[in-house]
Amino acid sequence: VDLTQLIIDRIRDVPDYPKPGVTFKDITPLLADHAAFAAVIDAIVAHYGRGTIDKVAGVEARGFILAAPVAYHFGAGFVPVRKKGKLPSSTYAESYDLEYGSETIEVHQDAFTPGERVLIVDDVLATGGTARATAELVRRTGAQVAGLSVLMELGFLNGREKLADLDLHAMVTV
Ligand code: IMP
Repeated sequence: VDLTQLIIDRIRDVPDYPKPGVTFKDITPLLADHAAFAAVIDAIVAHYGRGTIDKVAGVEARGFILAAPVAYHFGAGFVPVRKKGKLPSSTYAESYDLEYGSETIEVHQDAFTPGERVLIVDDVLATGGTARATAELVRRTGAQVAGLSVLMELGFLNGREKLADLDLHAMVTV
């Protein structure tokens, strides 16, 4: 089986979650399969290449799970991007619109040093709002966004259009 098929097979559709009419892409079966988990981490590292990334930013909460082993394999640091109010020290914050309401995410102001090359990692790219806000947070610290890597892109939501300035690596697009 190739990697694309492996990812598709291990990401479960959960209908009507978190609300009626929405189908949630659940990556927990992929994470629980050691071979599939290792293969996706290795593929992310191979796509960008060793020596090209200084820090890996993971987006709360599933992004953490993927970003940490990617950082380890790059020999890079890991930086958490968190929902408002969770980080203890001084932060930058970005707000963005959701279908209903809005969300605010934060990063520590001293998480990156100017010029560092940062890879953003998350599980699913939907509307692109989270990824765009994360890229903005990275840039406000003076660091540069080297890329955005996601396991699955929901193509019908056109998130990619919001991220035209990023090197977007989607392992699977549905
Ligand atoms: P966006 O901001 O609309 O692109 O949504 C992406 C964010 O919401 C990411 O942090 C994802 O973890 C989460 N997300 C949105 N839809 C799904 C899904 O179907 N499965 C898992 N995570 C999702």
